Amino acid sequence: MKIVVLKFGGTSVGSIERIKNVVKIIHSYHKKKYKLIVVSSAMSGVTNDLIKKSKKISNNFSPEEYDVLLSSGEQVSCSLIAARLNHIGLKSRSWLSWQIPILTKGLHKNAKIISIYKNRIIKYLKEGGIPVIAGFQGVNLNNRVTTIGRGGSDSSAIMLAKFFGAKRCIIYTDVEGVYTTDPNKLKNAKKIKVISYEEMLEMASLGAKVMQPISIQDARLNRINIEVKSSFKKKTGTLITKRKNILSSKIIAGISSTQNDAKVTLVGVKDKPGVAAMIFKPLSKNLVNVDMVVQNISANGKETDLTFTIKTEDLGKTKKIINANKNIKFRKILLKKDVSKVSIIGVGMISTPGVTFRMFQALAKKNINIQVISTSEIKISVLIDKRNTKKALVALHNEFKLED
Ligand code: ADP
Ligand code: ASP
Ligand code: MG
Repeated sequence: MKIVVLKFGGTSVGSIERIKNVVKIIHSYHKKKYKLIVVSSAMSGVTNDLIKKSKKISNNFSPEEYDVLLSSGEQVSCSLIAARLNHIGLKSRSWLSWQIPILTKGLHKNAKIISIYKNRIIKYLKEGGIPVIAGFQGVNLNNRVTTIGRGGSDSSAIMLAKFFGAKRCIIYTDVEGVYTTDPNKLKNAKKIKVISYEEMLEMASLGAKVMQPISIQDARLNRINIEVKSSFKKKTGTLITKRKNILSSKIIAGISSTQNDAKVTLVGVKDKPGVAAMIFKPLSKNLVNVDMVVQNISANGKETDLTFTIKTEDLGKTKKIINANKNIKFRKILLKKDVSKVSIIGVGMISTPGVTFRMFQALAKKNINIQVISTSEIKISVLIDKRNTKKALVALHNEFKLED
């Protein structure tokens, strides 16, 4: 069976007109005799709105109910798509995760798809139906509805492509593909024709919202090529594939930036073994995700300063946890919102010396102060004041000639 998975994101199904447009796209593949599996996200804004409602009901909303609530957005969009397909004379129906079922394991809000039962969908495809499957949701072994993390319908699409051995997996979104940096932040951003899983994974993890990071990891492990394209314009998009398929001489593939990071500095921490572990243990227990970490070299051998970054929404919680931690001593805690992590990503930097220097120099020329640095084999990240983000993106985009 020549199966194609078509995934539509929130903006693509954001209004009745847009849903009608999506159905035209689905119809065009149907005419080419493909067997189609359609996956949809909730209409744009709906999931955020449901989160707001949960907060108004209780600041102690149970994760189980939270998942039931949040997964409802996809039920609406899928039924609207299926009904419109029926309207134009095609056989279609919506499928919620428990009806297939799509099985997940792990914690609510962040569960992971582990298997998908194929029989019912295969039977439906053979009968000529177009299943419209709710993304972002699953069901666990206790028969409870789960969700798989924000932006998770990308993962639903990749896992469906994996389990059904799809020939193609196409992610329809509101931009024409993956760009060198967010095209909504920098108008000179350039569409990338092909990008490796590794680079896309870094770009996504470091702030490029266009693909959910976990979905890229799953695609890489299962060698699934992903096409990202626009649901509004008929244009070639971006292919995400393995490194071997790419003939590019670019050192840097793209630049990502984050929106909501915060910085915490503990001044005058005792410099002895085990201190860092003592600081981070209760944070990790309380599910605070610590990102960049730097520790200054101790000038007097007794005390040091430790700086790390977290998500802004965790700032209050982090302050409380640190102040309540009897196992550590420090002189002062400094908290700073409004910082942004800007990262350059590219497999080319492995074999090209001087990339770090060029990045730092380009930022220095624009008077942008670097507060924290972290690197891996294929990326360099710096923490800067949030108000300088755009300036940094422009400077780095020029420095690495990403427009050419
Ligand atoms: P969908 O609802 O289709 O899943 P998302 O909002 O999750 O769409 O992702 C698309 C958005 O990702 C774009 O509107 C764009 O602003 C943002 N984005 C961030 N970085 C990039 C990038 N490097 N390339 C393309 N889009 C990006
Ligand atoms: N609707 C979900 C969200 O907003 C899933 C998705 O968009 O992929 O996170
Ligand atoms: Mg998305």
